[in-house]
Amino acid sequence: MRYDFAVVGGGIVGLSTALELTRRFPAAATLVLEKEASWATHQSGHNSGVVHSGIYYPPGSLKARFCAEGREATVDFCREQEIPCEICGKVIVATREEELPYLTKLEERGRANGLRVRRIGPEELREIEPHVRGLAALHVPESGIVDYGRVAESFARIAADGGADLRTGAGLRSVLTTPDELVLETAAGPFTTRFLINCAGLHADRVAAMMGVHSPVKILPFRGEYYELVQERRGLVRDLIYPVPDPDLPFLGVHFTRSIGGAVHAGPNAVLALSREGYSWGDLDLADTAEMLAYPGFWRLLARFPAVAVMELRRSLSKPRFAESLRRLVPEVRLEDLLPGGSGVRAQALTPKGELVHDFVIVPADRSIHVCNAPSPAATAALPIGRAIVDRITYPLT
Ligand SMILES: Cc1cc2nc3c(=O)[nH]c(=O)nc-3n(C[C@H](O)[C@H](O)[C@H](O)COP(=O)(O)OP(=O)(O)OC[C@H]3O[C@@H](n4cnc5c(N)ncnc54)[C@H](O)[C@@H]3O)c2cc1C
Repeated sequence: MRYDFAVVGGGIVGLSTALELTRRFPAAATLVLEKEASWATHQSGHNSGVVHSGIYYPPGSLKARFCAEGREATVDFCREQEIPCEICGKVIVATREEELPYLTKLEERGRANGLRVRRIGPEELREIEPHVRGLAALHVPESGIVDYGRVAESFARIAADGGADLRTGAGLRSVLTTPDELVLETAAGPFTTRFLINCAGLHADRVAAMMGVHSPVKILPFRGEYYELVQERRGLVRDLIYPVPDPDLPFLGVHFTRSIGGAVHAGPNAVLALSREGYSWGDLDLADTAEMLAYPGFWRLLARFPAVAVMELRRSLSKPRFAESLRRLVPEVRLEDLLPGGSGVRAQALTPKGELVHDFVIVPADRSIHVCNAPSPAATAALPIGRAIVDRITYPLT
């Protein structure tokens, strides 16, 4: 059988795209290829589970637009599908004088992005989160929590009901381009398609290369490690507690998140991983590491942020240092309150100049579209990202 569309990657972005293809073009034959044995195995199943408000993103950026649309779409989808999703609000807390100007900037950004963000003082902060100490904070009522693994599985089920053919254990290995079709060699045998959509997350630049498409960026894997509060100390956190982030970095700083099941996670940090799927220091892939070291952007990045790189490394290797970062927000956190809480690996695009790309990057090419950067808040924004991808396709294909 020849497919019209093949989506590579069964994470939340690929599955949202497949869902949208089946809705928009019900007569088309859509295939999803996922290399793992189940859906949402990588970023989409290893994240903080936060429905982001969009406060951090410059107005007019793809992140600002898709996050706002995605937040509402996620809430509606979860309501329809009876998936637990709670809009509980969050606080962003300044604990040092020098953070106050950026807190003000975030407040302005939040307003420009249409949020009901409010500046609060230490007393009101204590009413919202009794165990947090700070000089000032922002309260963002629009933030929430959800299990994105469940959302992704629902996307898969609805896409399959809509006629999509979803294959797991079907990693794409190579693409042969002929005048009429693309022949996809996969771990589950060959498939032919007329159009390919690359949503391969941590491997998106490699899948683009298989199509002969030059990705403008390289994916760098940044591991985010978590601790979890022991059950008796979960009361230290009511909802979502964030620090003021470093504006130069696309990461939010270690924070506290209550998850939909009641657990409280602390993290994630952002440490360079030695493998694209490097969930711990033991996961070393020599080929991935060699590729990273050979990329000029990697060395330029290190030269720009040497102190951050060293701090992240030391914090990753030392639980007391991690706890120290957490105590800036919640001073009562003790070492014995923290259990290992797993990790996730972010696919973060890096330019050859050593710049971490903040916004989403979607690259159209001949007979294909490539999602080259879909870091946080892409889980929140998955539905509008899928719609935006399908907006770029004319069907029937010519
Ligand atoms: C630690 C962490 C915390 C985060 N917290 C949040 C949050 O709270 N809120 C939020 O909105 N976002 C968050 N994010 C970001 C969010 O999880 C990701 O942006 C989103 O999941 C990206 O989805 P994806 O489908 O692009 O990637 P993925 O989920 O990684 O999916 C890509 C898929 O492609 C498959 N694949 C790769 N290569 C091939 C191949 N050759 N053939 C077939 N399949 C292939 C992979 O196996 C994978 O399943 C977080 C991310 C991390 C890592």
